[in-house]
Amino acid sequence: LLYNQVQDLKGTIRVYCRVRPFLPGQSNGQSTVEYIGENGNIMIVNPLRQGKDARKVFSFNKVFGTNVTQEQIYEDTQPLVRSVLDGFNVCIFAYGQTGSGKTYTMSGPDLTTQETWGVNYRALRDLFQISKARVDAIEYEVGVQMIEIYNEQESTSHIYFNSLTTCTLDIRNNSQLNGLNVPDASLLPVTCTQDVLELMRIGQRNRAVGATALNERSSRSHSVLTVHVQGRELVSGSILRGCLHLVDLAGSERVDKSEAVGERLKEAQHINRSLSALGDVISALAQKSPHIPYRNSKLTQVLQDSLGGQAKTLMFVHINPEVNAIGETISTLKFAERVS
Ligand code: ADP
Ligand code: MG
Repeated sequence: LLYNQVQDLKGTIRVYCRVRPFLPGQSNGQSTVEYIGENGNIMIVNPLRQGKDARKVFSFNKVFGTNVTQEQIYEDTQPLVRSVLDGFNVCIFAYGQTGSGKTYTMSGPDLTTQETWGVNYRALRDLFQISKARVDAIEYEVGVQMIEIYNEQESTSHIYFNSLTTCTLDIRNNSQLNGLNVPDASLLPVTCTQDVLELMRIGQRNRAVGATALNERSSRSHSVLTVHVQGRELVSGSILRGCLHLVDLAGSERVDKSEAVGERLKEAQHINRSLSALGDVISALAQKSPHIPYRNSKLTQVLQDSLGGQAKTLMFVHINPEVNAIGETISTLKFAERVS
């Protein structure tokens, strides 16, 4: 195993915190992030509190400040991504309130400039590069699936590549499927980054069409891009399989019950339930609990084979440093602390 540096990293669950910069036009005056340490510490100051209650330190595997580039973010993600080629299953999540930078981390602000590419494109580019470099020893096939999970308890899932319309997809948990737990979602073979970019454009266009029709719901659904890899060792003929799930989660903000009604309230309740189900699964894994509650949400069912066991998990939690985001910032950091 050439790229098995992952073994060096302790544990199978890692949490990275990323603070996004103030955006043009936002007041640059006061940030709730007072200090970021080399050792994975972040100090938050709550302007609504006085004295020693105002400051709190949270600790993670890493904390990335506002000046950290997409390339630097990927450097710390790369060993995990590469282990997929050695047959590991990997989940990478982006968690945070809407506007905190989840999509920026996973996809980037746009597809046109490679410099700002997010984890998704960098990961695929990397997988193709390494698989080409190993071509004399292992023959790899790569396929991608893209699904959206929306109001999961209603089991209405949305598939980008299949069609423009919403359809419900069955989830099957069966070890024979090797992580292909939504077998009816198109699994499209890809051989280069260009193929992937082309598919992403189609996927995003389909998603945008669906989203307009369904009332701008992208921040209220989980978007899951899955990369399936199969390698055949040329000498022994043995097959290895791995998969990488890249998950841009629904916004974690809690909606005010007095304001949300009807559909909006129902969506909010589904999101709360599925994010806490995800938190429950990851913290049960972190505590090596004998019972892992996968069945409590569609999201954790889809990812079941890739959470726990030999699988590796990385959670990026995103912070919006604005003062008026302090409530969500603290609840995001508490969620992150619970799963790490
Ligand atoms: P989310 O997906 O969590 O709703 P986005 O990724 O869409 O949030 O980010 C919200 C805005 O902030 C976007 O305009 C995005 O380009 C910008 N942004 C987020 N993270 C960064 C970053 N690290 N550097 C620069 N701009 C960022
Ligand atoms: Mg987003």
